[in-house]
Amino acid sequence: MACDFSIKHYEEILETAKRLGYGFCDFTGKRRTPGKKLYLRHDVDLSLAMALEIARVDHALGVSSTFFVLNECDFYSILDGETIDQVKSISDLGHDVGLHIDVRDTVSRGADLEEFVSRSIELFKTFLPVEDVVAFHIPDPEILHLEFRRFSCTYEPRFFSNIEYISDSARNWRGECACSRLERAKGDVQLLLHPFWWVAGSDFMSAGASVLADEIRHTKLVLAKNAPPIGVLDIGAEA
Ligand SMILES: [Zn+2]
Ligand SMILES: [Zn+2]
Repeated sequence: MACDFSIKHYEEILETAKRLGYGFCDFTGKRRTPGKKLYLRHDVDLSLAMALEIARVDHALGVSSTFFVLNECDFYSILDGETIDQVKSISDLGHDVGLHIDVRDTVSRGADLEEFVSRSIELFKTFLPVEDVVAFHIPDPEILHLEFRRFSCTYEPRFFSNIEYISDSARNWRGECACSRLERAKGDVQLLLHPFWWVAGSDFMSAGASVLADEIRHTKLVLAKNAPPIGVLDIGAEA
């Protein structure tokens, strides 16, 4: 099989994990499986539509995973109606949802980390099926390995440093593709995959450009609606 970033190889990686006897677990202890555990995590940095596509692939393969959605993001808003519907569709497919939380600006300005995260979870639980688990977005090294009383974190030692950790961050395996890393893994694994790389495939530059064009279109619509004198100006972006 070809080790590329394609849906086909994505499926092959999950099939490899199944063949090796991995059970797909969540981060909160609800789904317990005997034998080796695989914590399949998707950080949704760019597109909920692409995350939903991956959620459908996982579901079709009989795999449960956890999707981490950003509390604030330049490319989608978790408060937007369409986004909420997409997150609920992911949950309806049997997957977990957690916050992919960016704490850099708030914590560096005095927010208590545990308090900020646990209150954020409570807030988002008022309208989304969010579990008591977070994955930090671009975590500072000092918050890696921390454990918290009120929620689970994907960077706790039991999910991160004490087991095999495989990630496609920045579309870079740092050595070997997940399919061969899984073959060599001795025990439990956390596998972090970003839906964008797999759905965009080899044409990821055009996929990135279309995410950007959508964002510009959206900003122009918001301007036209809320500040018409600015919104009608041609600000040099593709309409
Ligand atoms: Zn591979
Ligand atoms: Zn991220």
